[in-house]
Amino acid sequence: MSEIKVLDGGFSTQLSTHVGDQIDGDPLWTARFLITEPKAVFATHLDFLRAGADIIETNTYQATVDGFEKYQGITEEKSLEIIRKAVDYAKDAVDVYRKEIEDDENATNRKPLIAGSCGPYGACLHDGSEYTGTYCANVSRKFLIDWHRPRIRALLEKGVDLLAIETIPCVREAEAIVELLKEFPDTRAWLSFSCRDDGKSLADGSSFQEIAVRCYKNALPGQILAIGVNCIAPQCVTTLLRDINKGKPNELVPLVVYPNSGEKYTVSEGWKKEGEAPSLHDFIDEWLDLGVRYIGGCCRTYATDVKRIRARVDQRRT
Ligand SMILES: [Zn+2]
Repeated sequence: MSEIKVLDGGFSTQLSTHVGDQIDGDPLWTARFLITEPKAVFATHLDFLRAGADIIETNTYQATVDGFEKYQGITEEKSLEIIRKAVDYAKDAVDVYRKEIEDDENATNRKPLIAGSCGPYGACLHDGSEYTGTYCANVSRKFLIDWHRPRIRALLEKGVDLLAIETIPCVREAEAIVELLKEFPDTRAWLSFSCRDDGKSLADGSSFQEIAVRCYKNALPGQILAIGVNCIAPQCVTTLLRDINKGKPNELVPLVVYPNSGEKYTVSEGWKKEGEAPSLHDFIDEWLDLGVRYIGGCCRTYATDVKRIRARVDQRRT
């Protein structure tokens, strides 16, 4: 694998090619399909691997004990069992994929890794608050640590290679996670934030660069693999990232980015494109030059997008 890792795309988006348009709007979102359509979850992982992903994420962004208890009426133990199963589906896909490419020398993602996806507390509230961070003022750091712990523990016990802590909208939750990760000192994770479109702020209004770099430095040495941003319009990414490594070539902070397609979601109209927004493919070189080491797509990006990212990353190596 190259030093640049290609990630997967929007899980819900690619999953919709298998199960149709019934995901957005569900309070458990893609997590429901761990229960109802495990074969489609497996197939979605396999799509991303075949497209060239070095790292795939488990379908656990919105898989939480709270969510399963509230919307499925099941116990904590049963909820954690579903989360552990999610790791199995990703592992099964990696096993199948590695057999497929045994004799294919062209495949450049030969040893794919599995990242355990952990969405923010706001994702389980099912009110879009992972894009505003409004809940953060109402919950304590201890509450957030206790809330994140069971899923992280379950994912790690099942042997994920790393954690994808993502769409974090506020300082308090980011700091809670950095503290929680110290309970699992051998674990590696990337920390990806939910940001505003203004090119400088976290969703809660605080400074993205200041908070992200502080989290990176306050974590156990080597524990945070990268800091960055996901589920944001591609044209908003560069200004967020460009000053982090400016003038410091010898102390590069690795960056992670997986934007959405630039379309906007509203409950009434679903996903809509506003005019001719640029695509993430227009920015790949620019981001890699800024120190991005993990690059993929979030909502409304498909396996076909991962394939294009893979091709660009491979091209840069030759
Ligand atoms: Zn997204």
